[in-house]
Amino acid sequence: MTPIPPGSTIGILGSGQLGRMLGVAAAQIGYRIHVYAPEPGPACDIASAFTAGDYDETDKLAAFAAACDIVTYEFENVPVAPLRGIAGKVRPSLRSLEIAQARDDEKAFVRALGGRTAPYAVVADREGLTRAFAEIGAPAILKTIRMGYDGKGQARISAAADLDAAWEAVRGAPSVLEGFVTFAQEFSILVARGPDGSVLVYPAPVNVHRAGILHSSAVPAPPELAAQAEEAAALAREVAEALGHVGVLALEFFACRDGPVFNEMAPRVHNSGHWTIEGTETSQFEAHIRAICGLPLGSAALTGARVEMINLIGDDAEDWPALMAEPGVRLHLYGKHDIRPGRKMGHVTRVWR
Ligand code: AMP
Repeated sequence: MTPIPPGSTIGILGSGQLGRMLGVAAAQIGYRIHVYAPEPGPACDIASAFTAGDYDETDKLAAFAAACDIVTYEFENVPVAPLRGIAGKVRPSLRSLEIAQARDDEKAFVRALGGRTAPYAVVADREGLTRAFAEIGAPAILKTIRMGYDGKGQARISAAADLDAAWEAVRGAPSVLEGFVTFAQEFSILVARGPDGSVLVYPAPVNVHRAGILHSSAVPAPPELAAQAEEAAALAREVAEALGHVGVLALEFFACRDGPVFNEMAPRVHNSGHWTIEGTETSQFEAHIRAICGLPLGSAALTGARVEMINLIGDDAEDWPALMAEPGVRLHLYGKHDIRPGRKMGHVTRVWR
């Protein structure tokens, strides 16, 4: 493809912090940003244009796409059907978006390529949940197929007595029942793939979640994870290739006794890659911009011996004066005005050289 040169306008569907950090990276190499979202958000502070619109307003989406040279997305819950009319301008493609937004489809896709997943069964109704529980057993975790994030739309099940409450917790939405996996650690693989098939693979961060929300990511992974990370990275490359993915793709894994177990994927930049802003030569945000614009992907080489990112969730963000005063700490705040429990307000990164 002909590269999309600096000076062009990149459209971003979604106005969250991922769009904000994509926009900062894009601006640094001379692109302009046009954000499309139902509500303004953190990305609007750094954008040169904003269109307020719902994701099913096809006329507005068409006008937005006409004003942009390329369109990307910063979260995966954008409905696919209304994007068909502008599909030619959207990267990563609608196929990546479609697969990654459904938990059952992404698991089946990865299994078909030889990856392992937790045992799971699709649940369409309350009777289906009873049948799935008989098959999967306890402990298990019920997750909505669509729209789940940061542990939302999930319920843990330790006995048959929990089934009613779990079904209520997912509000009767189509779901998957997953067997609980015993893991030593969680990690993710981030890859960026260009339209020419070139691939950049980042060192795998070890991720710690608290209450279903990412708390921290650190690289390098300990030596005992090296073989698992390598196997997972090979799978991630295959997934990106099979999807014809263009942009960053993130796959989350559990490190289990028999090897890596795939949990879920995101067809976009990912919270477990925020450390790359200071921690690698080319951040995940810049790599995504480079990939969708058909430019060389850059380098995922580490800038230090160890890098750690910690999320600022809810009122953690109130510690910003002390964090800012700490030598070597890089503070990122997303400009969100209301602090709410569980809300991602910012993050900090430390690089040990
Ligand atoms: P998810 O929304 O699928 O990323 O789940 C959020 C977090 O819940 C994960 O990062 C794990 O810490 C935990 N979790 C999710 N699914 C499982 C599972 N099948 N077995 C064990 N822990 C899980």
